[in-house]
Amino acid sequence: MNANPESLSSNDCELQLRADGSLRHLLTLKGLDKALIIELLDDAESYLSPDGTLPVRSDALAGRTIGNLFFEPSTRTRASFDLAGRRLGADVLNLDVNTSSRKKGESILDTIYTLEAMAVDIMVVRDAGAGVPAYIARNVKEFVSVLNAGEADVSHPTQGLLDLLTIRQHRPDFENLVVAIVGDIQHSRVARSAAHGLQTLGVGELRLVSPPAMAPVDAELSFARTVSTLDDGLRDADVVMALRIQRERIDDLDGIPSVGEYFADFGISEDRMRHAKPDAIVMHPGPMNRGIEIDGSLADGWRSVITQQVTNGVAVRMAVLAHVARAMQK
Ligand code: ASP
Repeated sequence: MNANPESLSSNDCELQLRADGSLRHLLTLKGLDKALIIELLDDAESYLSPDGTLPVRSDALAGRTIGNLFFEPSTRTRASFDLAGRRLGADVLNLDVNTSSRKKGESILDTIYTLEAMAVDIMVVRDAGAGVPAYIARNVKEFVSVLNAGEADVSHPTQGLLDLLTIRQHRPDFENLVVAIVGDIQHSRVARSAAHGLQTLGVGELRLVSPPAMAPVDAELSFARTVSTLDDGLRDADVVMALRIQRERIDDLDGIPSVGEYFADFGISEDRMRHAKPDAIVMHPGPMNRGIEIDGSLADGWRSVITQQVTNGVAVRMAVLAHVARAMQK
């Protein structure tokens, strides 16, 4: 963990804004203005072809360089930031963290200063340390933007935006929606960012459904309803989002169910979905563990919008990259 403890107490939402209210960095959805969230969702939609399948190209980032710094594993987020940057005409540098000097003990700031000296304009950062994206944002030169691509269990703002976009495409009436997020809420940055965004968009009801050992402990989620049985959590839900158990973030396995118990009690399947609304949609941020948090046939079935989430992820990352680049000086 490389973050300066000071960075943990500061207001990341203010730090990410320029004086005109636009985003310089994207660190968190918490406290982000509703109008700005909607603008980003609309921009993302404009990067999708009319049938919603293919992100279109533009030269909005021509001449810009993006550095992808993923200090934790990633498939979808890293690939989609890479493609998003290229589809906007940027040069994209994917730092190989396994051979980078951070492995030799270089501090994260020295890595960042090195990339600054190579004129990297946008740094996309994933790290297991809470506060790392904000710490970097506070220390970069004025021309650099920092995008949080997954911060410990704290925040994953572009995932939150792609989840909101996917929900909006199917159920635009947020005020009348019941959304159930099911699984390891306590250790999930995906749940936190989705919750922040859904709260701002005025979701009718958010349920956080999990075994007690995985229930949220933070006060900031207290607006949501915590539910400890799956059938109650799913009852009349419009949107159901399954989460992976974040074993890499769980120190104390006390009370954590075995895989078999977990699927029996909290795994979602077509059969368990009978408690939800008849046309409820099913989401998952990936990577999926079929047969643990979600049944494979449900993940591949007619309710599933999981591949659409992936496509939307490219469009959302294009929108965020274009947004922060717009205010950059040539
Ligand atoms: N891909 C998501 C994340 O980075 C979800 C997960 O890993 O379970 O948080």
